[in-house]
Amino acid sequence: SLEVRDLGMAYGELQVLRKIRLKVEPGTVTCVIGPSGSGKSTLLRCLNRLVEPKAGDVLLDGESILAIKPETLRRRVGMVFQHFNLFPNHTAIENVMLALTKIKGMAGSKARRLAEARLYEVGLAARADYRPSRLSGGQQQRVAIARALAMDPEVILFDEVTSALDPELVKGVLNLMADLGRRGMTMIVVTHEMGFARKVADQVAFMDEGRIVEVGPPAEIFDRPKSPRLKQFLAEVL
Ligand code: ATP
Ligand code: MG
Repeated sequence: SLEVRDLGMAYGELQVLRKIRLKVEPGTVTCVIGPSGSGKSTLLRCLNRLVEPKAGDVLLDGESILAIKPETLRRRVGMVFQHFNLFPNHTAIENVMLALTKIKGMAGSKARRLAEARLYEVGLAARADYRPSRLSGGQQQRVAIARALAMDPEVILFDEVTSALDPELVKGVLNLMADLGRRGMTMIVVTHEMGFARKVADQVAFMDEGRIVEVGPPAEIFDRPKSPRLKQFLAEVL
């Protein structure tokens, strides 16, 4: 499980996260929604220590992430970004393999077998030997997801992974993520896709101005919002 305890974060004078509390049970999908600038990406970045929190703590299976080496932590908490960050000079399968050989120190032949299996899972077995420039945005994003899965993380963080995609490619990636959720992957998903959040999330957290204003099951958040801020946000995005 992952437990965020009174997490605080500031960029200089700018307070970006204020006393964030959140509990993520194993095998569940948590969607984080909220207006631009509310701190969603910063929250994810704190969870694998791409930025260091200024206050509070995050427990991964009961252990403070501050006590875990960042390299180890990033193996246990995977992340997929809006821009896929694939290596352009490597093929799809090499992109997945590199994570295994370089970070996990796995032998090449074993890494290749595992990478093949992961690409198959994301529907890209036939594109294994293509470079990113010859893949669609949606396919590139699926390679990035395969790469994250290959590390066998305890949790995967997704930061608006579909927002840079052409509209016709969004659905395929969302379906893949829904599928991972059904198969028991623990996921925290920052998204503007309210349909996805409603259908796939076990819990939805609404952030505004660095706070989690409301958290609950999708039916509560979308159909019975309590706070005026959430009501207003939903009126704007739905
Ligand atoms: P969006 O929906 O637009 O992605 P967000 O909810 O992910 O927004 P964050 O990226 O977490 O928001 O940003 C929260 C606040 O922190 C914003 O006011 C932003 O301007 C500020 N911020 C983000 N990154 C930095 C940085 N590296 N240096 C200074 N301020 C930053
Ligand atoms: Mg963001």
